[in-house]
Amino acid sequence: MELIFSFLIVTFILMFVIAGGTFLIEKEKRPALFSFLFSLIFIILLILFSYFDSSEKIFFGYGFVGTFIFIFILLIIPFKNKHHLKPGVVTKQFDERNVMFSRNELIPGTEKFNDYYKRNPDKKVLDDKFREKPGLLSKNASKYHPFKFASAEANFRTVEAFVPFINENLSQEKQAINPKEISNFIKSWAKQIGAISVGITKLKEHHLYSTKGRGKDYGKKNIQNHSFAIAFTVEMDKEMLDLAPEADAIMESSQQYLVSANIAIQIALFIRNQGYSARPHFDGNYQLICPVVAKDAGLGEFGRMGLLMTPELGPRVRIAVVTTDLPLITDDNKYEASVTDFCAICKKCADNCPTRAISFENMKEIDGVLRWKINHEACFTYWNTTGTDCGKCIQVCPYAHPNNLMHNLVRKGIKNSNLFGKFALQMDDLFYGRKPENKNRKSPII
Ligand code: SF4
Ligand code: SF4
Repeated sequence: MELIFSFLIVTFILMFVIAGGTFLIEKEKRPALFSFLFSLIFIILLILFSYFDSSEKIFFGYGFVGTFIFIFILLIIPFKNKHHLKPGVVTKQFDERNVMFSRNELIPGTEKFNDYYKRNPDKKVLDDKFREKPGLLSKNASKYHPFKFASAEANFRTVEAFVPFINENLSQEKQAINPKEISNFIKSWAKQIGAISVGITKLKEHHLYSTKGRGKDYGKKNIQNHSFAIAFTVEMDKEMLDLAPEADAIMESSQQYLVSANIAIQIALFIRNQGYSARPHFDGNYQLICPVVAKDAGLGEFGRMGLLMTPELGPRVRIAVVTTDLPLITDDNKYEASVTDFCAICKKCADNCPTRAISFENMKEIDGVLRWKINHEACFTYWNTTGTDCGKCIQVCPYAHPNNLMHNLVRKGIKNSNLFGKFALQMDDLFYGRKPENKNRKSPII
């Protein structure tokens, strides 16, 4: 027993030292401190144990090892949530004119503006609030930083430079292709050039906006003849996001909009080279709702904050899509209940949202579909106040931790057992804090 006890304690010490080291590499001081503190407690326990007499050793050793085995077994049994609520699927097409960015483009006094609010009088009072604020990347915004805002602006302008590639004419004859071979090639190449995950789905009507809401085609019906959609995610840098809602957050999101646009164009051009039609969908130029496509392509589930929760990085991703008539092999979108179950108990994003835009409640039926929905107007008003796209909810999400062995073991545990999910949430709150502070974090950019 003495040997088993000592072995177990040494394992714990090593485990917490490795965890502490990993947290230090991740520049997470608080969880690193907790890990080293736990390893110290176990070292003290081991020293104390050596002073016990043999009867105390047997009593304490059996007690400790027995408790450990009991807890370990409890945590690995795949307990599922008996009260699980499965979110519904919105199959009604969404009008892009109702998206906050489209509403932001309406200029007061114009015919478009008057027409929109005549049809949507309920939205006028809400939108007046964000119009009173300085605006995204504004000099008067509360998180204004001259260089960081200017660099984000530069990123967005570079994305605009990609627009001529959206609708190029085909110059090639259709090549004979093997759908499986070319699907695998596209996925593997996309990962090679920066994507974290890639999936393919059949393009469905509800993926597409019913009516265009931005740019010169405002108000026109959205016509799309493609059959397939390739969705992919790119990672947003954790260190930058950890400073949300400071300027670093919008620097990083704009950077990843740029990276994802680049990959989308590369894929579209590649497909056109095979003689098939392809359309990249990237920031400011979407004909469809990327997260909905990505979900159907098997890349994740929707969480409480309304974003796609990917298995690798939770919501800490940006998504772009390429639609095409190239015959492809689609991926499964097997429903992952553990994400919804974890979101039901976690609520960390709701707790940390500066505007209370994220619901604390269970999923509700909204327009006949069971789901969570955030208050987009409150969120967007905050963006126009700070001048950044905030991202605090993404920063604090337990699924957004780095994609490494330590965090992936926790993700696996959550997927396996609802009880483990509850335990992991307590640990996350203890190690990172329920409301993680940014004040000791330094920007990786000067
Ligand atoms: S913070 Fe928690 S509740 Fe919010 S999306 Fe992430 S896991 Fe779900
Ligand atoms: S981005 Fe910020 S304001 Fe918007 S929902 Fe997330 S935490 Fe709230």
